[in-house]
Amino acid sequence: MTPAVPALAERIRRAGEVAASHDVEVLLLTPGTDLRYLLGYGGASHERLTCLVLPAAGHLAPPAIVVPKLEAPGLAALPLAELGVEVLTWTDGEDPYRLVSDLAGGPTRMAVADSMPASHVFGLRDVFPDVAQTLAGPVLRELRMRKDAGEVAQLRAAGAAIDRVHARMAEFLMVGRTEAEVGEAITAAILDEGHTEAAFVVVGSGPHGASPHHDVSGRVIERGDVVVVDIGGPLPGGYNSDSTRTYAVGGEPPATIREAYAVLQDAQERSVAAVRPGVTAESVDTAAREPITEAGLGKNFVHRTGHGIGLDVHEEPYIVGGNPILLEPGMAFSVEPGVYLEGEWGARIEDIVVVTADGCERLNTRPRDLVVLPG
Ligand code: ZN
Ligand code: ZN
Ligand code: ZN
Repeated sequence: MTPAVPALAERIRRAGEVAASHDVEVLLLTPGTDLRYLLGYGGASHERLTCLVLPAAGHLAPPAIVVPKLEAPGLAALPLAELGVEVLTWTDGEDPYRLVSDLAGGPTRMAVADSMPASHVFGLRDVFPDVAQTLAGPVLRELRMRKDAGEVAQLRAAGAAIDRVHARMAEFLMVGRTEAEVGEAITAAILDEGHTEAAFVVVGSGPHGASPHHDVSGRVIERGDVVVVDIGGPLPGGYNSDSTRTYAVGGEPPATIREAYAVLQDAQERSVAAVRPGVTAESVDTAAREPITEAGLGKNFVHRTGHGIGLDVHEEPYIVGGNPILLEPGMAFSVEPGVYLEGEWGARIEDIVVVTADGCERLNTRPRDLVVLPG
């Protein structure tokens, strides 16, 4: 589950190298997915400072982690000694920011984790009054955006797990149940299929389907409803699933909906077909958007086509107009165009794909048609 020591050591080494190339002298990483990526341990974020101090390549100090003494047992299982990461504990009443500044020496440019709480950002500012703070995200994304074989295997397992939940949708989604009841049953299935958490469960029935990030509500599913089901969460290794299918419950939807859905399905296919190394993220968005716009539904496709996925559900690369980033093997992201008719209905089709040497692998393989459930 946790990457082997040599893989982690290589990540730490490369983080230092990329930091240097970004003109950053030290990375300061508090609990979160960046830390988990580098150490196999995400930590927990709260008011007491836990912080990995990772000098850029060319700086002599070894990496070190500053951690509250009472949290130190949580690190006992980590291969920190093998990784050459020093552990410095502190107790209540001491100034942990001072410890960080002693470790970091006198940098002039530091990068802090994107998710670092502002209280820690300001605490660090007090002990490094003249040091420019930038975000560590641009450094870490250069590593995290391209998944290695072990990460792809975990994303593949997550995709298969969420596909098994979608395969059981007729057990959960039926006429007369509220969205919340359907959501509870789906949550149980997400856990049954090996996730540690149902990170999100969207059951958007009828008019609620027109709100892309609808949650669940007390609305009762009616015969003939079109329902958007967008679900996912992490497996124990931390890698996430995320897949959307749209269902019709208890009967065929009207021809207008069928026609619009066919446009959406074609757009999703074309967008997936556009994925290969060397094309821009923007071009994958365009491949989905053009056919939808040509069908007169452009204004109903109200979001980007996709987002990267890994230890975070949403991460780089974003599949969005204006993103010139070139796709490379190992990049993993969603392809999820949707159409939303306010007050009436909505539909979305979402697969996670991984860029391969000559195209992509889909990690979600459930039928993409508008599946009619018995209801
Ligand atoms: Zn979303
Ligand atoms: Zn989703
Ligand atoms: Zn998504």
